[in-house]
Amino acid sequence: MADEPTKPTQASLNKKAVEKTAYKPAGVSATGRNARRFAVRLWAVRHSRGLEWFYARFADLFLRLHPMWKAIGYDRAERPVKFIEKHVKGFLFDCRMCGQCVLSSTGMSCPMNCPKQLRNGPCGGVRANGNCEVEPDMPCVWVQAWNGSQQMVASQAILTVQKPVDQSLRETSAWLRTTALAAARTEAANSTEPA
Ligand code: SF4
Repeated sequence: MADEPTKPTQASLNKKAVEKTAYKPAGVSATGRNARRFAVRLWAVRHSRGLEWFYARFADLFLRLHPMWKAIGYDRAERPVKFIEKHVKGFLFDCRMCGQCVLSSTGMSCPMNCPKQLRNGPCGGVRANGNCEVEPDMPCVWVQAWNGSQQMVASQAILTVQKPVDQSLRETSAWLRTTALAAARTEAANSTEPA
């Protein structure tokens, strides 16, 4: 029996429909992306459980340093902390500094690498090999997110519905924001406890 012809994806149909012009924007092709980044990103997903453990300790440490952040001033601490966060998470997760990190819910696979920037699961166009329909060379970040999340202790966190991205938080430090939020919650809880 002859093989059934492969159905074209919506992305390839869209690509064909685009008028050909002399101008081709640079730096948007999947093949132009840094393949090494995929490798590091995939390593992070494979080691999601270890990274989950490390991140929990790291968040505790940051929270314990809350009096110091307060003394320095969160505003003043932001610049150096953001510099480190951007480089560390950029290397490990290809972080796009959305400022509202959800890595602990997405198996250490950053959803901002999805070309459609979907925060709540994959679109309907994942290829049969698990790659993205828009960037055929790139593994779908949501397929990776599911794989990574299932190795983690908080394996059900991926089912939490995420809010739309708040664009006003872009290029801010998720580390400091999470710490300040946790500290405010602790202080509020302590102040309502009976003396
Ligand atoms: S979810 Fe946001 S902060 Fe976290 S790695 Fe992705 S872009 Fe960076």
